[in-house]
Amino acid sequence: MTVYHLENPIINNDWGCPKTMVELYGYQNPDNRPLAELWMGAHPKAVSFVNLNNKQQMPLSELIANEPVAVLGPKCANKFTNELSFLFKVLSADSPLSIQSHPNKAQAIAGWEKENIKKIPLSAPHRNYKDKNHKPELVYAITEFHALNGFRQYSQIIELFDLIKGPKLGLLINKLADSLNSDGLKNFYEALMTHPEPGELVYEAIHNIEIRFNKNEDSKEFQRLWQLAIELNTEYPGDIGVLSPFLINHIILQPGEAMYLSAGTLHAYLKGTSLEIMANSDNVLRGGLTHKHIDINELLHTTVFKPIDHNNLKIACTSLNEYEQCFCTDVEDFQLSIVSLENNSSKLSCKVHSAEILFVIEGEVAVIAGNNKSLTLKAGQSCFVSAQSKAYHLKGKGQVARASTPN
Ligand SMILES: [Zn+2]
Repeated sequence: MTVYHLENPIINNDWGCPKTMVELYGYQNPDNRPLAELWMGAHPKAVSFVNLNNKQQMPLSELIANEPVAVLGPKCANKFTNELSFLFKVLSADSPLSIQSHPNKAQAIAGWEKENIKKIPLSAPHRNYKDKNHKPELVYAITEFHALNGFRQYSQIIELFDLIKGPKLGLLINKLADSLNSDGLKNFYEALMTHPEPGELVYEAIHNIEIRFNKNEDSKEFQRLWQLAIELNTEYPGDIGVLSPFLINHIILQPGEAMYLSAGTLHAYLKGTSLEIMANSDNVLRGGLTHKHIDINELLHTTVFKPIDHNNLKIACTSLNEYEQCFCTDVEDFQLSIVSLENNSSKLSCKVHSAEILFVIEGEVAVIAGNNKSLTLKAGQSCFVSAQSKAYHLKGKGQVARASTPN
């Protein structure tokens, strides 16, 4: 057998939405717990299980470890040291996730080794590096998806802080106004994050924001930002992350749109449901809007202090064939394409270059492998395709997300 039905773990983070995955995918949730993340992959923190022929189950990591070259394909097995190169998730947020950035490869290796030398246990709350990998990520919106992504242009940051500042914030924003470059931005951000009384800064800003919001004289876009900051302050009163929307681009993805976040990009997911694909890593440096550990030095070290133009946040898709659209990036660890089959006679043959994970977004689709074994998947179900498959067909009416390693 080369195609396996997957059973995936769900992570119940507080910010998760208890309803969306139940409504879209029929998952059971009798205790009304937050269904925040469904993990599809072989990361040790939460590994998926494959259903075998004999009705037994096996962790995906074990299936790979037993025959890495056959299951991953020789090229990927060699390049990614016998591990699946990506981690694939469904993410469903009711309230904001922490402000965060992720390390590049060199930073992750150095951080991992440093924390190993200090003997910080992998499960310790103050452990930053859970693995040695970088973590670029790509988000594909299933429902309207709100997020913060990448620093705003310097002039925009100054304009926004000028509108909300009081005396204390005014002193800090001068650090950027005096040098409109990456160093100035880093100095300003560092001053915010290390301020002895962050609550005072937030209080000062929120006071001005509420006055502006209530006057309702600003443009729609500004009003939306004021409202967002007020909401964030209600959720995390006095947390310095409340000021993030004035530093970081605010973006709303419509269903079917996607954005890419390279390592080092400061971001936060605010609300909505999406697919997320990333390098096989769980390395997170947090910068507010969280009760979890914040390591400011590591955050400053791994964040890239460079503005990203709002117009460049969404990524375009390319047609691979009649049914398949790819959100291609230059990252070597993952590729995401969306297959849309219009009716029951629609059929797509897919060549297999690496191990793949298929997740059905809507409808019902049969996955037919070379040996004519077929697996029928409904919305919310997924399967693992071993690289041994060489090829398979997708047939049915529905939409399938196809995660793989680029060829
Ligand atoms: Zn992230």
